[in-house]
Amino acid sequence: MRSSLPSVDPSDRSWWLDEALKSEGNVPTAAPLEGECTVDVAIVGGGFAGLWTALTLKRRRPDLSIALIEASICGSGASGKNGGKVHGYWSSLGTAVQALGRNGALAIAEAGDWAQDGIRTFASECGRDIWWREGGNLVVAATSRQEEKIAAIVEQARELGAEDHVTVLSVEEVQARCASPVFRRGLFYPDAATVHPARLARALRQAVIDQGVSLFENTPMLSVTPGNPSRIKTPRGQIIAREVVLATNAALSERREIRPHVSIFSSYVVMTEPAQDQLASMNWTGDEGLADLRMFLHYSRKTEDNRVLMGSGSGPVSYGAHAQARHLTHDKASIGRAEAGLRRLLPALRDIPLARAWGGAIDVSADRLPFFKTIPDTRIHYACGFSGHGVNATYIAGQCLASLVLNERDRWSGLPFCTRPLPSLPPEPFRFTGASAIRSAILACEEADEQNRGAPALARAVAALPKLLGLRIGVR
Ligand SMILES: Cc1cc2nc3c(=O)[nH]c(=O)nc-3n(C[C@H](O)[C@H](O)[C@H](O)COP(=O)(O)OP(=O)(O)OC[C@H]3O[C@@H](n4cnc5c(N)ncnc54)[C@H](O)[C@@H]3O)c2cc1C
Repeated sequence: MRSSLPSVDPSDRSWWLDEALKSEGNVPTAAPLEGECTVDVAIVGGGFAGLWTALTLKRRRPDLSIALIEASICGSGASGKNGGKVHGYWSSLGTAVQALGRNGALAIAEAGDWAQDGIRTFASECGRDIWWREGGNLVVAATSRQEEKIAAIVEQARELGAEDHVTVLSVEEVQARCASPVFRRGLFYPDAATVHPARLARALRQAVIDQGVSLFENTPMLSVTPGNPSRIKTPRGQIIAREVVLATNAALSERREIRPHVSIFSSYVVMTEPAQDQLASMNWTGDEGLADLRMFLHYSRKTEDNRVLMGSGSGPVSYGAHAQARHLTHDKASIGRAEAGLRRLLPALRDIPLARAWGGAIDVSADRLPFFKTIPDTRIHYACGFSGHGVNATYIAGQCLASLVLNERDRWSGLPFCTRPLPSLPPEPFRFTGASAIRSAILACEEADEQNRGAPALARAVAALPKLLGLRIGVR
């Protein structure tokens, strides 16, 4: 697998989080939990999923007492470091139909629209500019093989009556939106937006405090004991709560009940210095996000100060679904691939220096869709499996988890995210060995494709395995 050395090293903290903390001024970190606290609902994790759940519960039932604990500060996890590309499931209909059938796929696509509406409403009422921009998503074919995928995607949308949600663009139409010598035809998804992810997380943090949620930062959960009530242990205290929500993202994969259903991959991004003239020279003056049609896709968007973020979903896999492994955040080869993607796809930015690079764990479920459930015979609920696509889906998670906590049968708790039986992945060591081999093979094939040469026969054979075996991850 080729990997070029990146021009910056991976950083512990995202450019987004630094910018958000600087822009909000001297907001004090919430004090850690000391002693015992008894509440109706305890939420663990101060990312989008935990914060949307807290806000939704308070809006539906203002009388509930809620405590939220976060191991670090709110927004320090994936929610403060992602690409900030926000879209539901119209662009994932193939995955959705395979996992849920026609009606299930349409149900989650509609829920994605409800989430876009909900985030838009929050963006307009939260009192901060969180850089919410609804410019759609431009998905380009950057090789001939990628171009071959377009017909099947459009046919799938047509079969489902969803043709209004995707438009095929000619080469000229693509170039008019974003010019690049490697871009061919493309697809435009109008129902997509971008956001400043860390500003969104921080605005949600402020909103839950304003609603009266008790927030404790620098307070890791050490253990949770289910019961009536359940008990959460922290380093210097304990929470006693009737209902518990675990919103700790990839860390959930370490739980026995959840581990069979998720595998931990990683995604990496680079952020450039401002490049206003270069963006103008390539016609990228609109608000659309950008992605290619690789399986380990490149994803990209601009910032308000004319930087470009380029991500690569090709980071290493973790053995045993271990979420803290260092190679999930500090893999130079993955940063190198994100930078190589930037320079190849957008050569007008060839000489623009990078300001920052970072990475994070991705919780990929066996069918690449998230799941929001209650651990059997307990009142412990959780959200997991966002599969690298969680900005929109964590809003849905917040609604679904609130419905599970309140025992409400409604349009949220009836979604397949809450109701479908979960497929499992093979156990270790087969899972890690298989996923690593398939990842390497797919990367080799996709790189050969970009260089217009044939991939080695072994790589082609291994990359074809997931499809042959009927798996839903790793299918090109
Ligand atoms: C590099 C990267 C790029 C991405 N790009 C996109 C994108 O463009 N669009 C998109 O839709 N999705 C994207 N994603 C995915 C998206 O960011 C996630 O799916 C989403 O943020 C998950 O939100 P969360 O609240 O579940 O997790 P998190 O934001 O990770 O929140 C979980 C929180 O739980 C805390 N925690 C963990 N363990 C404990 C404990 N024991 N006690 C207390 N607290 C604990 C963590 O500190 C963390 O703050 C990307 C992810 C990465 C890593």
